[in-house]
Amino acid sequence: MRAYRELLAASDPDVFATLSGEEARQRSGIELIPSENYTYPEVLAVLGSVFTNKYAEGYPGRRYYGGQEFTDRVEELARERACRLFRCEHANVQPLSGSPMNQAVYLGLLEPGDTILAMDLSHGGHLTHGAPVSHMGRLFRFVRYKTDPATGAIDFDAVAALAREHKPRLVLCGYTSYPRDLDYAAFKNVADAVGAYTMCDASHYAGLVAGGVMGNPFDCGFDVVTTTSHKSLRGPRGGMILCRRELAARIDKSVFPGLQGGPHMNVIAGIAITLGKALDPAFADYARRVLANARCLAASLTARGVKLVTGGTDNHMLVADTQASFGLDGRAAEGLLDEAGMTTNKQILPDDPNPPLRPSGIRVGTPAATTRGMGEAEMEQLAGWMAEVLSRPGDAELRRSVREDVASLCARFPVPGLE
Ligand SMILES: *Cc1c(COP(=O)(O)O)cnc(C)c1O
Repeated sequence: MRAYRELLAASDPDVFATLSGEEARQRSGIELIPSENYTYPEVLAVLGSVFTNKYAEGYPGRRYYGGQEFTDRVEELARERACRLFRCEHANVQPLSGSPMNQAVYLGLLEPGDTILAMDLSHGGHLTHGAPVSHMGRLFRFVRYKTDPATGAIDFDAVAALAREHKPRLVLCGYTSYPRDLDYAAFKNVADAVGAYTMCDASHYAGLVAGGVMGNPFDCGFDVVTTTSHKSLRGPRGGMILCRRELAARIDKSVFPGLQGGPHMNVIAGIAITLGKALDPAFADYARRVLANARCLAASLTARGVKLVTGGTDNHMLVADTQASFGLDGRAAEGLLDEAGMTTNKQILPDDPNPPLRPSGIRVGTPAATTRGMGEAEMEQLAGWMAEVLSRPGDAELRRSVREDVASLCARFPVPGLE
């Protein structure tokens, strides 16, 4: 495993220096971006394996190149495990990442110009849910539902009224920045009333669905669930489309040859490993701890006067209004926390008056810290440091000393693969 480092150090010291730098950064700082995680050492190994040498255009048993005995087997393993884990009928594990995954669903089930009903981007929807700057936003007509400004809940009478007015062909739920679980039965009712497909983009929280601590859209009869593999699932960077059997052929054709060429077989092998781990009962325990840590962090921050969007969390993330809590925009808050060794990300809030690069809040999440083995005592410690650093933005000495405290905390919780 370590041999490649010595090879690289000798053959390309410039790239080696960036790798060592990133290793040190990951070791000594605390990762609180909710979409990030530390993957398994076995996944790191298989990503750097000879599976990366192989072209495998097509699907198991139907490839455009020879030599597919082992690539077929590993892709079958990934598909079978995905179906078992998420209780679905079909899985496509080839999307190169989350964005092409969602594009493949839209292009496979709809015609350009069709209407998609999705969550407003400032209320939590993702860029790939039709941001005006994205190609999908130009190709399809996106109509937006929002959350209630006071409670953060989704008003399904309003969603149903939008559906009646705009007749979407697809009702999309799922989010990148929303700290609550979703009422899938209510979304299914809205879609059924207008004959639309149902799709959930569970990219952020699929690990919590797999671990049984959040709802599974397939239990309410959803057509399609998409997810990245590298967030709460702890896998390599990739995407998966899970769907009902009737849609399998259209989804598969849309991914290949519709949108992509050769799949990344090293990533697919990593996804197979990841799903195997997620089927183990130990993963349900991980999911429970991710959730308990998020609740603890939310309660500790609230106790220190931090205002959270929706007032708390039901998942792995919190969205904090730093403008209202500290008079700091999200970019400034992100920068101050970074200086103190805590990585978060600036985040646009519902109907944010500020622009996306200087929004009013930040997102904070617990999957990565939980992977390192941190628990509620560490969450309280982190909440204390965060609130202190943000309430004294002029105090550079404080940030230096917190950075040292964060590094000594992190030294007790090694990053998997970097022990
Ligand atoms: C992260 C994310 C994606 C996109 O994933 P990439 O791998 O960054 O392309 C799509 N949808 C949601 C909801 C996400 O959170």
